Amino acid sequence: MITIRLTVARLAHGTMLVASLLFAGSAHAHGNASIAANQARAIEFPDTADYQTLVVDLHTHSVFSDGHVWPKTRVEEALRDQLDALAITEHLEYQPHLRDIPHLDRNRAYDIAADAAKKTDLIVIRGSEITRDYPAGHINAVFIEDANKLLKIENPPSDSTSSAAFSRAARKWPAQEAIKAAHAQNAFMFWNHPYWTRQSPDGIARINDFHAANARDGLLHGIEIANGQTYSEEALQIALDNDLTLIGVSDVHDLIDWDYKPHEGGHRPVTLVFAKAKTAGAIKDALFAGRTVVWFRNLLIGREQHLQPLLQASLSVSTLRYLNGTAVAEVVLSNASDAAFELRYNGDYTFMFSADRITVPAHGQITVQIKPGKKLRTLDLPFVVENALTAPGKYAQLTLTVAR
Ligand SMILES: [Zn+2]
Ligand SMILES: [Zn+2]
Repeated sequence: MITIRLTVARLAHGTMLVASLLFAGSAHAHGNASIAANQARAIEFPDTADYQTLVVDLHTHSVFSDGHVWPKTRVEEALRDQLDALAITEHLEYQPHLRDIPHLDRNRAYDIAADAAKKTDLIVIRGSEITRDYPAGHINAVFIEDANKLLKIENPPSDSTSSAAFSRAARKWPAQEAIKAAHAQNAFMFWNHPYWTRQSPDGIARINDFHAANARDGLLHGIEIANGQTYSEEALQIALDNDLTLIGVSDVHDLIDWDYKPHEGGHRPVTLVFAKAKTAGAIKDALFAGRTVVWFRNLLIGREQHLQPLLQASLSVSTLRYLNGTAVAEVVLSNASDAAFELRYNGDYTFMFSADRITVPAHGQITVQIKPGKKLRTLDLPFVVENALTAPGKYAQLTLTVAR
């Protein structure tokens, strides 16, 4: 597995090579075609000046709770999306497949996934979803050591195959006790889908005393602002107000391909983690330090200090020249990321072929002609990045500078 992925990474630098690989694949071998297809669906963002940019999904399910696939399938999807790390986070207390898949050891999903990922460079993170009604709701604990210790059933139901009876019995143990058990294992914990309409019928996330107290006491560290097909500005504001790490996840139960259509250019929501190294420990450190940006549809959402270095690594401007005998400048804007950047020019110049809106395609370039009025040696191009948010309603700004 490792050899194949390294080969693809090298080929990806040359479009011609990828194209010929695709052609060869369709003519001869099945494997090559799928390698090229996987390269196209890889979620890719450049490293920043100070950190590696790791692509992480911290919330998924398998048949070991209410998902519909075996854990190995989650690993295969993650490899196709070229994630750096994956957590399978089963509901501890919700076991709808209990009759068919009874299991006493709640670490099984992790163990199977970790085994499936053994010969790859995917990091599998052990995690669980603590599942209660409002106000606790659902809380993911990741980087735990033993999921069994986060579940306690004092009075087991007489029918051991009834998932409803199991759920009732399991939810009697207070959520706060499960959180304390996870904290004893040094878990990173985040509040899941705080705007879930089943628990917040108007879809608006609001901090409550339970989560506010845990955030204050160091027992809640992050919050989902993007989950599946949904994004929440209120959750983003809660994160900023309570110093919580911004998290984006798939929370996938079925297949990534069904939910996000990567073959049509879609992608699962992920958390971009700015880590010192590609290790589980470095990811955990970065999460506790809040060094993340969420990638949801075409939106990048992050605190200014984390979003800005990512934008600087992703967007660049080059090759300033003036059209023959004119003071019309031509520059090339390049994008090294998966995001299609929607820029609004915020300076004094005007353009030859557009008004103030410019889109720089994912992993692409565009040439723009600018009218500075005279031949300048240096051009500063200030932009508002309209698909990058640092707070609700607040867009990131970036000035690209090009010199002759
Ligand atoms: Zn949930
Ligand atoms: Zn879930």
